[in-house]
Amino acid sequence: MAGPDYIVDIDGLKPSAPPNSQQTNRAGLRGRRWLAVQWKCCSVYSRIYCNRAGTLYEGKCPKCGSPVSAKVGPGGTSKRFFEAS
Ligand SMILES: [Zn+2]
Repeated sequence: MAGPDYIVDIDGLKPSAPPNSQQTNRAGLRGRRWLAVQWKCCSVYSRIYCNRAGTLYEGKCPKCGSPVSAKVGPGGTSKRFFEAS
């Protein structure tokens, strides 16, 4: 039916951003270390990410906003899963 030219000529149908733009926006988090957190307070699960210095995992409960942090390195946790209460 319609060839490629027809599609390109319609203004507004062409997405202004490429379909994978969301991935691009999240690229800042890619490669950063994270912990999986089970939030006991709200029985939910999410990830918390390492801070820029790479010394601490910090995050907040997605439901109630209760903060949690976990140290990195000696004396800290080496677990990938973490429980916050
Ligand atoms: Zn909570």
